[in-house]
Amino acid sequence: NSFESFHLKRELLMGIFEAGFEKPSPIQEESIPIALTGRDILARAKNGTGKTASFVIPSLQKIKPKMNKIQSLILVPTRELALQTSQVVKTLGKHLGVQVMVSTGGTLLRDDIIRLNDPVHVLVGTPGRILDLASRKLAEFDQCKTFIMDEADKMLSREFRNVIEQIITFFPSRLPGGANAYQSLLFSATFPLTVKSFMDKHLYKPYEINL
Ligand code: AMP
Repeated sequence: NSFESFHLKRELLMGIFEAGFEKPSPIQEESIPIALTGRDILARAKNGTGKTASFVIPSLQKIKPKMNKIQSLILVPTRELALQTSQVVKTLGKHLGVQVMVSTGGTLLRDDIIRLNDPVHVLVGTPGRILDLASRKLAEFDQCKTFIMDEADKMLSREFRNVIEQIITFFPSRLPGGANAYQSLLFSATFPLTVKSFMDKHLYKPYEINL
């Protein structure tokens, strides 16, 4: 039960220890090794369990900082959560040279356009603005290797579902055999039918975690 046992990049391990994390929380212990194998995950976990690092750490491990492409998309329901999540990415990824961008409604699209002139490896945002950027071809997801949804139960209620379905159309298409060309990590406090149906449609042989 240690972060060293995950065989992470040295720079990532430094970020984890500098964040003050000494050993993995139960959700991290279960999800990180599975996520590092590339498998899709559906995890039921409450806030305060360390779930953010459960998806940020495996996603950072995969990023190639020299490639100037969005490699990880993290969808969240609110601007506040987007800012909090981006802070975790920055802290843990501090020594990796990973660049993070936050993009949500309630801000000027022009500011996002300016920010996109510089490298973005991890994009954290809310569905409406992310779809807007993708539709305008301002953000490209053709090299995006990780699709993450936090608070999936909130995200998949009502009007968001359709927006998320549209965002996924900008991701690399399925491989022959049915597997996705990217990894999906879904985190949700509850497991309503909307999350189940999304999982059945978009996740490939997901590993389910219940904590
Ligand atoms: P979260 O559930 O992601 O919102 O995290 C809840 C809190 O736990 C945050 O303040 C994290 O910084 C902290 N945390 C996450 N993982 C660990 C860990 N392995 N050791 C100590 N604190 C942690």
